[in-house]
Amino acid sequence: MPPVVLPGASAAAFSSPQSPHAIAPSPVFFAAQEALLAAVAAGRLAPLPPPAVDAAVWQLEHLRLLVAHLNVLVGRRAAAGCTPTSCAVMATGDVQYLCASHPSPRECCALDYAVHTLDASSALLNSSTAYPSRLSVSPAGAAHFSPLSRRLYRVLSHAARHHAAAFAPFEAETRCAGRLTALARAHGLLTEEQLLIPHAELAGDAGVGEGGRQAAAAEASAGRGESSAS
Ligand SMILES: [Zn+2]
Ligand SMILES: [Zn+2]
Repeated sequence: MPPVVLPGASAAAFSSPQSPHAIAPSPVFFAAQEALLAAVAAGRLAPLPPPAVDAAVWQLEHLRLLVAHLNVLVGRRAAAGCTPTSCAVMATGDVQYLCASHPSPRECCALDYAVHTLDASSALLNSSTAYPSRLSVSPAGAAHFSPLSRRLYRVLSHAARHHAAAFAPFEAETRCAGRLTALARAHGLLTEEQLLIPHAELAGDAGVGEGGRQAAAAEASAGRGESSAS
């Protein structure tokens, strides 16, 4: 109970509920982000969240970090010869993809596909409308994870297949493809058929350690399927 303040009392008798300490953000808001950064810095793929962190919040932080790292890859890929002339369509091997980062999906060259996908992903993942809290994710927010993962994975698989000289050192440094593969398996974001990058080209033992395959199998048996969106 606050003290009773009587007429004529000195200023010291008043409490100050809006002190800087009272309104400082709690460290708990950034717990997931900090735990993920620590795990990645330690070289772990970390597809599953720590006990105190919500699984959807963990996926959101993973995808945010992947977008930040993939921007580096796109810069290197341009330098490694991924140009509108060399890669006039977005493809991995013989499979072509339309760019979904437009009012209606259209053909973009591979480099533009990567840039447009990363820009759109960054805008969505940092949207306070789609993700107003760092402590929970709504079902509508979580519904974006699978199509987002699919598009981000294509940026990686194009680089792995067509620009190996840029992809190999990037993957060794960041383990992005290994992380996304493990995350996708653990949470049912991508099917095995969509995971096109050969296992030998992934940094680390993606999806095998840390319960990745087991969790993916559990998700599959629970009937969670892949969205058919582009
Ligand atoms: Zn290319
Ligand atoms: Zn585009």
